[in-house]
Amino acid sequence: MNGTHETRTTEHGTISADVVIVGAGPTGLLLAGDLAAAGIQVTVLEKRPAKISNLTRAFGVHARTLEVLDARGLADELIPTGRKLTQLRLFSSLSLDLSGLPSRFPFLLSTPQYEVEKLLRRRATEHGATFVHDAEVTGVRQDSDGVTVDVESKDGEGSVYRAAYVVGADGVRSAVRKALGQPFPGQSVISSIVLADVLLESEPDLTVAVRGGDGAFGFMIPFGDGYWRVGGWNRERAEIPDDAPTSLDELREIIRRAFGSDFGMHDERWISRFHSDERQVPEYRTGRVFLAGDAAHTHSPAGGQGMNTGLQDANNLGWKLAAVLDGRAPDSLLDSYQAERHPVGRAVLRSSGTIVRVAMAHNPLQLAARWLGSKLLNLAAPVQRKAIGQITGIGYRYAAPRGSHALVGRRARDGVLADGRRLYEALRDGEFVLVAPKDAELPAELAKLAGTACIRVQWRDAGGATQLVRPDGYVAWARG
Ligand SMILES: Cc1cc2nc3c(=O)[nH]c(=O)nc-3n(C[C@H](O)[C@H](O)[C@H](O)COP(=O)(O)OP(=O)(O)OC[C@H]3O[C@@H](n4cnc5c(N)ncnc54)[C@H](O)[C@@H]3O)c2cc1C
Repeated sequence: MNGTHETRTTEHGTISADVVIVGAGPTGLLLAGDLAAAGIQVTVLEKRPAKISNLTRAFGVHARTLEVLDARGLADELIPTGRKLTQLRLFSSLSLDLSGLPSRFPFLLSTPQYEVEKLLRRRATEHGATFVHDAEVTGVRQDSDGVTVDVESKDGEGSVYRAAYVVGADGVRSAVRKALGQPFPGQSVISSIVLADVLLESEPDLTVAVRGGDGAFGFMIPFGDGYWRVGGWNRERAEIPDDAPTSLDELREIIRRAFGSDFGMHDERWISRFHSDERQVPEYRTGRVFLAGDAAHTHSPAGGQGMNTGLQDANNLGWKLAAVLDGRAPDSLLDSYQAERHPVGRAVLRSSGTIVRVAMAHNPLQLAARWLGSKLLNLAAPVQRKAIGQITGIGYRYAAPRGSHALVGRRARDGVLADGRRLYEALRDGEFVLVAPKDAELPAELAKLAGTACIRVQWRDAGGATQLVRPDGYVAWARG
């Protein structure tokens, strides 16, 4: 095992950290950075070796994720690594225009997952998070004081970590979820999707394209570095198992059926066949142990929401764990992680599942429903706004207490503050931001939660709502 970890010994055993995170994927990396930045002692246990893979899974970073990265000072660094896409073309007749999004980032950034991971890992390391590689978690046990984590190294050596809280961000086959005995109910949605990163001789005229036709559907998305992520599915080969070999010829045939051309694809740097499940764990929290990212929910890659949803889970959980460990909030604040994130996970399962099922439609009734659905989405602005809000993540709203101001639970809109910064620049300190007149008083419980480090500032221009913004960029309280 490589990496170091500080240990403190208490009467309850060996405490390696306040929080142990299992898994150094995007979810675990963002969470590790947030906790370390808040001064929490955090150790990340990762079964892979330290070398960062240059194979990518996700390639789409949506607007809300870019806002979250902006609140950590990372968005402007990530954007040059990819390509900005403002049109999402779903099927031949349905197109979503992102250029009018009420966000600093009115586009989908197409960039490989490893670029996101690289920035998040650097930030977590800079803030002092400890990474331990070649460390496979094999068991998790909890008692009233903390959680014990069993770890096995590549050469079979065992060790034990102990922490106040543990987060399982260990992906779809989560060992933490299994150790908790949590079910992962759901179903398989689609099998035998062929996926590759290829170069093209001629590019499609659309920047992001999904098309169905002749018993197949395919999608093509540019990475920004010359390569395209191309994937597809052929009804006639839908029962082939994941481990059956595939080839560029198989993918060429699918894309020709769906698009009428294979665009001269060549030089694949990666090709694979995979299937997609739709599953969600019922409880994101079991005592002192939390599940986040793919460990908590999995769905088809349609809509490109997997990595984005995991990053939003981490964005929600980090500041809550920090506030509880800091004594500013009771343990019950952590229950709001389930209350806020589980419904979002369910909605993502539903929307990505709908896209895949519509793409696979083949009988006349299903095809007519697809045509009608496309027309409705193209014509009805509110329906289109809702779809765009869900896919980009900016439309999600957390439940607010009865009688709250309409802004409570919504994502805070960026704006310029009296000190010249934007709100999302002020959030980079990881604290609550109270944008309010000098004499504004917060309710006592919120004042305690926001703590003495709460940033108090006013909007530069008159007319902006008075609001308390949580460190994750959602409105906790508003007035006026
Ligand atoms: C082929 C493919 C294509 C995809 N395309 C897209 C896409 O276009 N858009 C999108 O948004 N999403 C896509 N996804 C999904 C996306 O990659 C995931 O949603 C995202 O990686 C989830 O991040 P995570 O951090 O939650 O989990 P992961 O990225 O899976 O990270 C989990 C980490 O935990 C580690 N780990 C696992 N078990 C243990 C253990 N017992 N002990 C210690 N460490 C452990 C793993 O090594 C891994 O590093 C795709 C997935 C696949 C497979």
